[in-house]
Amino acid sequence: MLLQAVPNVLEGYMPIGDITVIGLCLLMAALLSQMHIFKDKSFRLLLMMLVSCAAASVSNVMLFGVRTQESCPVMLIYGLRLVHYTMLTLSMVLYIRYLLKAMWVRTYVRKRYDLAVLLLLAAGVAVDIAGTVFRFGFYIAPDGHIEDRPSLFLIPNLLFMTLMLWLLVRYRKRLIRQIFWSLIGTDVICVMIVAIQEYFGQTSYTGVAHFLPFLSILFLFHSNPYDINTGAISESFFYDELDEDRSDKHTLILMSCIMMNFSKALQQSKDLSDVFRDFFRVHMRQATLYRFTNDRFILCFPRSYDVRQDREIEDMLEEFKEHYKRFALDYKIVIMETNPEVVSGADYLRLIEFAEQTMPFNVIYRVGETDIRRFYSNSYILSQLEDIVQNHDLDDERVLVYCQPVFNISTNKYDTAEALMRLRLEKTGMVYPDQFIPLAEQHGLIHMMSLIILNKTCGAIRTMMEDGYDISRISVNFSTLDIRYEGFCQEVQQIIDRNQIPYSKIAIEITESRSEYDFNIMKGKVMELQQLGIKFYLDDFGTGYSNFERIMEIPFDIIKFDRSLLIESGRSDSSRYMVSTFASMFNQLKYSILFEGVENENDEESCVSMSAKYLQGYKYSKPIPIEELHKFLEVKV
Ligand code: C2E
Ligand code: CA
Ligand code: CA
Repeated sequence: MLLQAVPNVLEGYMPIGDITVIGLCLLMAALLSQMHIFKDKSFRLLLMMLVSCAAASVSNVMLFGVRTQESCPVMLIYGLRLVHYTMLTLSMVLYIRYLLKAMWVRTYVRKRYDLAVLLLLAAGVAVDIAGTVFRFGFYIAPDGHIEDRPSLFLIPNLLFMTLMLWLLVRYRKRLIRQIFWSLIGTDVICVMIVAIQEYFGQTSYTGVAHFLPFLSILFLFHSNPYDINTGAISESFFYDELDEDRSDKHTLILMSCIMMNFSKALQQSKDLSDVFRDFFRVHMRQATLYRFTNDRFILCFPRSYDVRQDREIEDMLEEFKEHYKRFALDYKIVIMETNPEVVSGADYLRLIEFAEQTMPFNVIYRVGETDIRRFYSNSYILSQLEDIVQNHDLDDERVLVYCQPVFNISTNKYDTAEALMRLRLEKTGMVYPDQFIPLAEQHGLIHMMSLIILNKTCGAIRTMMEDGYDISRISVNFSTLDIRYEGFCQEVQQIIDRNQIPYSKIAIEITESRSEYDFNIMKGKVMELQQLGIKFYLDDFGTGYSNFERIMEIPFDIIKFDRSLLIESGRSDSSRYMVSTFASMFNQLKYSILFEGVENENDEESCVSMSAKYLQGYKYSKPIPIEELHKFLEVKV
């Protein structure tokens, strides 16, 4: 049967527009598969839009091809035409769904809209089919004549168009102005394309009009984060790629490099940017370079288990060091492989930062399994510390007080001790101060911990006093961060009060403050608490830079000589002379001297000869639970 084309369906049509759309769709698909763009959940909708545009155009071109073929089955024509219109309409449905998501319309409202547009789409298809069957829409008459009164699909299309504009206007406040106007602009251009076509009796560019919203969305919501200055991609894609990679199960090598003042240097030196680009042009084959905010770059590439790869990495590092000689930007390089134990993409960055905390500049460090374990145990400890602070329980059972008895040379007995903090956590068991004190200080969590130790120490003192033991006092460590806290003095006073022990039973150990600001605060607070009878110890004397003038300004009761001074004094006669001079000078100024880290007879002898009044160290006892301290104490008669 030979079909006679009817003008408003097929005659004003040339496949040029649809072929363009097919070409663009193929190009987009190829680019999207290669490009690093923002691929979140809504990205799927975008891909579906692309597929429906392509399917609409392919079916239309096929329809154009088969319609004049004499042997063409009628059903094929019906089918292709239906697919064409359904796909065009579907692309609008997807566009509307995308907008609903982009405008943060609440899920239950969005679901209603989703249902409505899908029903409308189904109704459109049903009515069109009915139009063919009952001959009020598109049909081919027995004489081969094609009848298509104004296409029935125009109705749902117009409805969708109206809905889209209405949604944009209704939720305009949820979009930033530029995006709102860009979307409105896109819609206006699409309507104009269709209207102008209509004017010229054309239908070739309908596919183009449906393709434009896809381009707009891609441009507005899924930006390509490529930085043309460095060839790097922005950081959010790093997390995406590594999260994706967890499911892929192949190993990636991550090389992180942080360089001091890199951004500034890059702007100032064209040489540097040339070297940087050349460096990565050579080394970046198969690799992706990510750029992070704080001048960090991470190069990411698959592990090949080929010795050549190891050699390449070594060469690359050597070349880097050569460039370092020239540009002198201090760096830290951390290298690691992806590992199933690392839970998320974001954790890789945290792990790298964790490794960097303890490494010096201009060093290359390889992160291994132990670092990963340490990192996760740290994260766990941190979460527990946060929980302890949040619970605000002065008797929290996870915080333990250990203590080390201190030998008093003048009374020849143990009558004081130092309280030392430990944690006992469910997953890790006992945790020692070097593992959690720095962490607690960095994250501002130390204060609650100190108060718990003070409270528990007071409680233990009270018990020992009630049991008749002779305990002069126990010293508790406080950090500079505690002292800075405004209500520090009141808190200490309240905690001692609530345990009903004399203030003189508590001493506070603090280390020298580094800043003038802290020094002044410390001075004020020491004076205030000393009024109550609380004694103050200067901890760790001999580590860091001691400023005698400042030390003298604060009326400390006891100066604790760090173990390093004791070791130093054993090195040479002059060292010995220096340490004993410090000690006798303090002594003459009426400070008492406590030597820490007395491990054996030898240490003890030196300390005694160097004006010590108190001795503390493994020679007498390791730190023990405070409940056992009474074993060292005498019972008062
Ligand atoms: P520190 O205040 O200098 O405490 C003395 C440390 O030396 C203790 O380590 C103790 O176990 C250790 N030690 C004792 N005798 C000897 C010895 O003969 N030889 C050697 N080599 N070491 C000895 P610990 O308990 O691991 O505490 C380490 C640090 O953690 C403490 O140093 C202190 O700075 C901090 N710390 C402990 N408890 C607390 C606390 O409750 N609050 C605060 N802010 N810091 C605490
Ligand atoms: Ca101490
Ligand atoms: Ca100390």
